Amino acid sequence: MLAVQGDVREHADALLASGAQPVPVRRPGELAGLHGLVIPGGESTVIDKLLRAFELRDPVRAAIADGLPVYGSCAGMILLADEVLDGTVDQQTLGGMAITVRRNAFGRQVDSFETDLQVAGITTPATPMRAVFIRAPWVEHVGAGVQVLATVPTAVGGPAAGRVVAARAGNLLVTSFHPEVTGDARVHEYFVRLVRER
Ligand code: GLN
Repeated sequence: MLAVQGDVREHADALLASGAQPVPVRRPGELAGLHGLVIPGGESTVIDKLLRAFELRDPVRAAIADGLPVYGSCAGMILLADEVLDGTVDQQTLGGMAITVRRNAFGRQVDSFETDLQVAGITTPATPMRAVFIRAPWVEHVGAGVQVLATVPTAVGGPAAGRVVAARAGNLLVTSFHPEVTGDARVHEYFVRLVRER
């Protein structure tokens, strides 16, 4: 768990429920020996600043380039994107996934949004996933090598309809939503399988 800011504890609980052994990472030395990394939801601009302040940015980028499996949720998805729209002036991402994300795309401040989703490789039509979006980004552009795992149902209507909200590229997994808040550990189980396969 990248544990500089955000809802670390909820992700750690979901990882425990998925058979993983989560440990907090706050300094570069703590990256050694990890089999995977989860970047939680929170505030991407703050996580970005703290990554730089704690000298974690370059080692995490190197680990991503080395193939470390990383799952980013919400702010974590922003951090894994190669490009961010509506970021702050000096906001940087770690990058690694060839996606362009729009920050706070579903609305600002207290805006949150929920819907049932089909997630490729995780749900069946009979067992959709309740997805909670909290000041969430969406994926506005998907580049080469990126597999779309989930889109907002078109029946939802409005600007969110059809937007990409979960994707995978190699060992990198992102979701706009927060599976750690619903007690449904299927996304974390999927990530733990990805880590085991590696
Ligand atoms: N809006 C936040 C950001 O820009 C993300 C919100 C979240 O992680 N729930 O980082």
